[in-house]
Amino acid sequence: MSSADLAFVNGTVYTVDAARTREQAVAVRDGRIVAVGSDDAIREHVGPRSQVFDLAGRMLLPGFQDAHVHPVGGGVERLQCDLHDLHSREDYLLRVKTYAEEHPHREWILGGGWSMDVFPGGIPTKDLLDAVVPDRIVFLPNRDGHSTWVNSRALEMAGVTATTPDPADGLIERDGAGEPSGTLHEGAAELVGRLAPEPTPDEVYEGLLEGQRYLHSLGITAWQDAIVSTGYWMDNYSAYLRAAGNGDLTARVVGALWWDRERGEDQIDDLLELRERGRTERFAASTVKIMQDGVCETFTAAVLEPYLDAEGRVTDKRGISFVEPEALKGYVTALDGHGFQVHFHALAERAVREALDAIEAALETNGPTDNRHHLAHIQVVHPDDVPRFRELRAVANAQPLWAMHEGQMDDLTIPFLGEPRWRWQYPFGSLVRAGANLAMGSDWSVSSPDPLEEISVAVNRKTPPTYLYGNDNHEVFLPEERLDLATSIAAFTMGSAHVNHLDEVTGSIEVGKFADVAVVDRDLFAHPVDEIASAQVDATFVQGASVYARDGTS
Ligand SMILES: [Zn+2]
Repeated sequence: MSSADLAFVNGTVYTVDAARTREQAVAVRDGRIVAVGSDDAIREHVGPRSQVFDLAGRMLLPGFQDAHVHPVGGGVERLQCDLHDLHSREDYLLRVKTYAEEHPHREWILGGGWSMDVFPGGIPTKDLLDAVVPDRIVFLPNRDGHSTWVNSRALEMAGVTATTPDPADGLIERDGAGEPSGTLHEGAAELVGRLAPEPTPDEVYEGLLEGQRYLHSLGITAWQDAIVSTGYWMDNYSAYLRAAGNGDLTARVVGALWWDRERGEDQIDDLLELRERGRTERFAASTVKIMQDGVCETFTAAVLEPYLDAEGRVTDKRGISFVEPEALKGYVTALDGHGFQVHFHALAERAVREALDAIEAALETNGPTDNRHHLAHIQVVHPDDVPRFRELRAVANAQPLWAMHEGQMDDLTIPFLGEPRWRWQYPFGSLVRAGANLAMGSDWSVSSPDPLEEISVAVNRKTPPTYLYGNDNHEVFLPEERLDLATSIAAFTMGSAHVNHLDEVTGSIEVGKFADVAVVDRDLFAHPVDEIASAQVDATFVQGASVYARDGTS
């Protein structure tokens, strides 16, 4: 028996195999797991040239896989005027001012990541920005990317005035006199945004590497990039191929190619070409992303019954189905027939139903496939649709961090969804009990990409102690929808590996699989569940190679 290159010993190995086995140690050779067992058994694999990693009582887990994330945009933002780590008006303005001063030659101040609950009614105004940057353009999307804060210079330059009509797919916030007040929702942001300089290919590439570094530091070894394209937003497709080609891509990535809703089935040829060209060892552009609706806070998420207004009266707003539901059935059937996985943004109950109906139509026409279509966000699911996930083998792709009481939920969502619908939010427990396949992801840079924070909320359904956007409502959010720790870890490892079609080679610690693993600083099962978010990742490995070490030894 030739000896191991690497052995993890003296810890708790939580394997996430079918039996949820716990062991003490793991041996790795040529990037693959060759043995899992007791310390004594693994020591037999250790030779003079083996590197031995002393877990010292810590926990070894399969690397986390984020099933819905935007790491390139997130990385680019981290390198721009990034507001994600702040949470007050004063701090935002100070950061914008400082950034503008430090980058005197940038005509555009780009970045973003502000939080709606910092501002009255969720709406910041242009005068705040004017006071710190009067002479250059400021254009800052919020942390969910659906609303953008701009200054007067930005509106002026784009010619957005009191007489500018709202675009069909968006809304311009206005003051009492009808003047644009400084927040642009959804498509309205494009009135300014379309004039912004695209990040250069090198900036996109640096963004990818920054995003990758950051995700590795959180124990993430693979992900599904929820929007990959050669042009919409930014050319992250080429950045992935470049990184894959020169060995800089250390993560495993599935790319969800953007479905352009201005076009129809004729784009499928282009998608096939991108899939063909985008097939490398670590990167596969094998998925198509269809954005079916918006978000609740701006009433663009597609609902079955209309939203309420702030006084609880029924409005005429039902949100937007970005793709007409009958057309959606046709597109999904065609994509499924070509072997594409479809990754839906399906947030409220009408969009969820439309996505499930489309999957059902594909199933009827094409018969069962192994494409593993999935619905991301699933914020509001009508109870009648919960069992359909299992029936249709549609994967529930959950972003658990949003399933708690916080400003955005309590002030901007619950009152407008009303009874009983607000109770249909994030029904993870119900989905699991109904036999749905569950995957998990963060939607970073919309919210924190830390899987331990997300798992903490999946288990506790309340604000983790580490949560930046703190609040004083510590009530458990719909307690019957809580998941246990084992189920949550499985969703973030095997569940997401399933959706990424990586479950045969990753997602659990089993002999023959790649040694894609994360070292967590404690046995999560041995501590109270409200401490999950306080745990930290100490080291991350992909194929047996170190990609992150908290103590800097990587
Ligand atoms: Zn997203």
